[in-house]
Amino acid sequence: MPCCRGNSVADASALEGARPQAPLDQEFAARLLAWFDQHGRHDLPWQHPRTPYRVWLAEVMLQQTQVQTVIPYFQRFESAFPTLADLARADLDQVLALWSGLGYYSRARNLHRAAQICVEHHQGGLPLDFESICALPGIGRSTAGAILAQAHGARYPILDGNVRRVLARHGAVAGAPSGTQFQHRLWALSTAALPEQRLADYTQALMDLGATVCTRRRPACERCPLADDCQAQLQGRVDEFPQARTRRLRPLRSCTQLWLQDDQQRVLLQRRPAVGIWAGLWSLVEGETTQAALATLSQLGIVAESPHELASIRHEFTHFSLDIQVRAARAVHFGVADANLRWLSVDEALQLGLPQPVRRLLQTYAGAAMPRSLITTQEITMSRTIDCIRHGAGEEALDRPPYPGELGKRVYTSVGKRAWGEWLTHQTMLINENRLSPVDPKARSFLKDELEKFFFGAGSVHPEGYVPPED
Ligand code: SF4
Repeated sequence: MPCCRGNSVADASALEGARPQAPLDQEFAARLLAWFDQHGRHDLPWQHPRTPYRVWLAEVMLQQTQVQTVIPYFQRFESAFPTLADLARADLDQVLALWSGLGYYSRARNLHRAAQICVEHHQGGLPLDFESICALPGIGRSTAGAILAQAHGARYPILDGNVRRVLARHGAVAGAPSGTQFQHRLWALSTAALPEQRLADYTQALMDLGATVCTRRRPACERCPLADDCQAQLQGRVDEFPQARTRRLRPLRSCTQLWLQDDQQRVLLQRRPAVGIWAGLWSLVEGETTQAALATLSQLGIVAESPHELASIRHEFTHFSLDIQVRAARAVHFGVADANLRWLSVDEALQLGLPQPVRRLLQTYAGAAMPRSLITTQEITMSRTIDCIRHGAGEEALDRPPYPGELGKRVYTSVGKRAWGEWLTHQTMLINENRLSPVDPKARSFLKDELEKFFFGAGSVHPEGYVPPED
């Protein structure tokens, strides 16, 4: 099987066998490339040099995550594992620790496993052919296309979230985003628009346009190189494409985690199972209830004083919300030796791959003796929400009225507590994912826009049958 190794750039002709259909619109690509030359992003760390390994790392990190968030992670990751072989040799704990905070940890585990497969079966490099790349863990059709196009200049289409939005608007493609017909149509458009030359730049250009001009909110059509024949723009229906996803309220689950310390203020961490949420990360001993968590502790041979309430945390996953009750106790008997159990200082623990709520708890209590204070959900998550200005009306609709003026009035009079709670959760996710500072005016303005769309944008239905916006 042909392979690309190290920094070498393979001849795109080696990929001709899997070549997609002929281009239909060279002019589309030409306009995009001309725009890219002037306005595109040319200084991203993975572009210099644009090797298969570095492009692959970046593409996986960029799944579900914005460029500005990814850059420092990419730099740390690449510095720790400069080659694919280094990554394959690395300890999974180290990989997960460097990934910590980026979320969607299966991406890190898949990267690690895929690197090992490349070493075992592809002579130490990413394979060159589309099918073999797609067969690696964590690489789908769009990521494979992006790697081949960017690292080798091969003619493969991509369809990530940004590109989907651009093409759906440009072609005014209707339909549910998860529908098969919609997907087929967009893949066909993405394939048809491919140029003959400069595939790496073209692919980056399409992604950049979606990220910086054809944005989800308020696209800058006046400076878009595709505006002349963009059907959504010509029809004045930009907000309608792509159609908003219909989402149900996330189900709520709950669990108890035990913050256990010994006399040296070390904390007990347990490695989570290899499958399920936070798979392979180090976390607090957990159970569905406090009793269940204590029973697990007892099976491990650890005896603790009666635990007291320490914190209450709401954590959002893609498909459900998790309420975590954290209870603190001092260990009085330290149990059996177990490779999946560790008593660690806070500094040691912070070197491991940790679920985000556990990392925050450790940072909150860094170096502290057994904490006695009660942290509420508000202190943990609301501290990262934007301060709200109280509205003068009664309190029956909201606990925490948001913005003054017309927007505040609309929210206050039409949004129920439950929907407001959903917004706070969504806002916290936006703040965390985009690393926003609540005191930054730009962040406040961004969140105000998001709030408006969340409740009143196209596709939103509020408050009870309420549909959160697309991520
Ligand atoms: S004209 Fe507007 S809607 Fe159409 S592709 Fe450009 S930015 Fe997007």
